[in-house]
Amino acid sequence: MTNMFKPIKILKGVADKRAGLYENLGIYTPFDLLHHFPRNYIDYENPISINEAKINENNVVAGVVLKKAPEQRIRQGLSIYKVLVTDGIDNFYVVFYNNIYAQNALNEGEEYVFYGKVTFSYSNYEMNSPQYISRDSGITLKPVYHLTAGLTNTMLCTNIRDCLKIFESESYEFMPEDILRDNNLCSLEYALKNIHFPSDKSALEKARKRLIFNELLNLQLGMRMLRERNAESKAGFVMDSSVDIEKFLGDLPFKMTNAQRSATLDIIGDMCRERPMNRLLQGDVGSGKTAVAAAACYFCAANSCQAALMAPTEILATQHYKTLSAFLVPFGIKVCLLTGSVSAKQKSNIKSDIALGEYDVIVGTHAIIQKDTQFKNLALVITDEQHRFGVAQRNALAVKGNSPHRLVMSATPIPRTLAMMIYGDLDISVINELPAGRIPIETYAVTGGYRDRIYEFIRKHINNGRQAYIVCTVIEQNETDLKSAVEYKDKLSDTVFKEFNVGLLHGKMSAKEKDDIMNEFKEGRIDIMVSTTVIEVGVDVPNAVVMMIEDADRFGLSQLHQLRGRVGRGREKSYCVLVTENHSQEAKKRMKIISSLSDGFKISEEDLKLRGPGDFFGHRQHGLPCLKIADMTDDFEVFERTRDIAHQIISEDSRLISPKYQGLRGEVQRLFASAEE
Ligand code: ADP
Ligand code: MG
Repeated sequence: MTNMFKPIKILKGVADKRAGLYENLGIYTPFDLLHHFPRNYIDYENPISINEAKINENNVVAGVVLKKAPEQRIRQGLSIYKVLVTDGIDNFYVVFYNNIYAQNALNEGEEYVFYGKVTFSYSNYEMNSPQYISRDSGITLKPVYHLTAGLTNTMLCTNIRDCLKIFESESYEFMPEDILRDNNLCSLEYALKNIHFPSDKSALEKARKRLIFNELLNLQLGMRMLRERNAESKAGFVMDSSVDIEKFLGDLPFKMTNAQRSATLDIIGDMCRERPMNRLLQGDVGSGKTAVAAAACYFCAANSCQAALMAPTEILATQHYKTLSAFLVPFGIKVCLLTGSVSAKQKSNIKSDIALGEYDVIVGTHAIIQKDTQFKNLALVITDEQHRFGVAQRNALAVKGNSPHRLVMSATPIPRTLAMMIYGDLDISVINELPAGRIPIETYAVTGGYRDRIYEFIRKHINNGRQAYIVCTVIEQNETDLKSAVEYKDKLSDTVFKEFNVGLLHGKMSAKEKDDIMNEFKEGRIDIMVSTTVIEVGVDVPNAVVMMIEDADRFGLSQLHQLRGRVGRGREKSYCVLVTENHSQEAKKRMKIISSLSDGFKISEEDLKLRGPGDFFGHRQHGLPCLKIADMTDDFEVFERTRDIAHQIISEDSRLISPKYQGLRGEVQRLFASAEE
């Protein structure tokens, strides 16, 4: 199959210029072009008549050409070519701009099927620059491709037909026969032909099924191979499994949930093995990940090793420091905090103590711990990623110490399917239950007209000794009417909430300022905290029971859920009020989802449905290959099946070097090479 991987210029009609355009689309070879799948298909099968058409939308309409009007020259560089068409009942005009070819190709008296936007004005229907096929062409589905300026859909179709010819002459099949048979899959040749030029819908379905299977299987194989390679890497510190964790668990101020407990045991199990742990701890806000992290640190310290916990912000690092200290210090474990706001002198003292092994557990911000900190015997690195995720930066953490065990904590309620994709080379523990006795947060979505009533609601709670958050989107007033935190705070403390202490927290404040104000809030000296989304990250004030979110439609669903997680942390019933002036269907739907669901995983699934997985997989931030055809939400079953098959294959032949699997290896390599471009 040599020609498939030659430069794209071997195709007829492709010279430097067009090759350059293809390059813009990431297409370099006929193979690449064949894998540039249509983004859509025009369905010519069931045309309608023009009076059934949806106005200002794309429609498929059949009609006979009555008359081709002469060119109308509107001005220099703009000519219009009109064609009068009838569907037997109504007449309509088909209009082409500067495209005499399109008009010429139509014959008077013949029937066509047109696809394009239909407009209606002065009691006339028009179709603007439609695509069309002859009614008796036999085509039912026509591919529509992602293009770039200078490339037309027709050019792509022509070039792809050429690629298909090359493929036919060199036809190959990389998938072992038994896998094809067991999974009822068509040949690669059939699949490639019919994904581009389906003979009908069922052929298209067959083609899609095969190609989705390919993609997911290759992905899984690649992940497995990566994982095997990691497993071959240096051994971590093997801890002593006889260290008694129950001593620690029994001393906690609460009883761990079953999910917390089993995550803890997963982690301990990992750390007692040779292969360094590489685990994701996933749990919704408030599920109690910190206690699990503390247990891991305890186990590590009891094994006379150091553990580090890294947080994305200072507020969070400080909070973790306090929580961990409370859990660990009673056992004689030494905990320290290392953040940017520690003075230079203190910093160097702490660092030299860390190097000497004076501290067992080191808590800090990502940057500080990663940079130049020397450890004595670092055996466990915990990263609190909160809602961010990405594979790339994670790998940078491995360098410290002697391949320490790694634990990543994430509150991003990524649906399991996505987590398995993004973190495919990690083991996953999910905390899927909240501590008992949590009272669900009541969430309402209202318009600005209710603002005064919400203020009264807040006042009532503050008079009962509770506290509240008010979240808004921006820091300084700009031309939009989004609530600005600074002005909003001033207004509230001057008028509505004159009798209360109103604080302000935003991202432009220094770490010290943020910490100070947050501490005042924690200690109850501030009643109402007006804030931008900086509080999103893990801040724990159990006495805060109301959160009001202005312009709630501006936030993603998962983000709203994270924000809301700041209340409902204590014994009192908590409330979240979403204020929005956005009356679009989309906004309403989103507000409805967030008010009716409390499970972060379900919310993110809904979020995913609304936004589409493109947001997750369109970008390469995760360092994984882009999926061209498979969709993690729709194709989950295939995903699971291919995972089992990949497992089977890798256990037979972990490097895919046997003749049976060699072909697959090539495919996997190509897929992953594309992720590294
Ligand atoms: P997150 O997973 O969002 O980081 P935290 O670790 O901050 O959650 O825990 C949230 C709150 O729940 C904390 O106040 C913590 O002390 C408390 N908590 C954790 N586990 C339990 C439990 N098993 N029972 C009762 N309260 C718990
Ligand atoms: Mg947390």
